[in-house]
Amino acid sequence: MLQCHAKSCPQGQSYPLAIRNAELEQLDAEFNADFVTRLMPKLDWAVLRKTAFELGVAELPAEIPTEPTQADLQLIHKVALETRIKEADMVCNGCGHVYPIKDGVPNMLLQDHEI
Ligand SMILES: [Zn+2]
Repeated sequence: MLQCHAKSCPQGQSYPLAIRNAELEQLDAEFNADFVTRLMPKLDWAVLRKTAFELGVAELPAEIPTEPTQADLQLIHKVALETRIKEADMVCNGCGHVYPIKDGVPNMLLQDHEI
């Protein structure tokens, strides 16, 4: 996952980046319950949940479901596999640095004076 790399960024606050002014794109991915189940342990649940909430995509349960229902899996499918951030500003909570996402690609480069 993405985190702030600015030298002046306070320790421990460089992650996760908040997402502002997001323009979302809904993709159409075929639902595959096994695939989503295997994906789940690889997700940073707290970050996924926060991001989905900030973007208004979905409200995920506070804890990752240990025995996910079909509805849980479909919700995770939608959030993790069908939602793409097309344009957005990712804002560091620590130092306020803004990293833009353009056409789905995050630009994590810092200006010379920030390195
Ligand atoms: Zn920062």
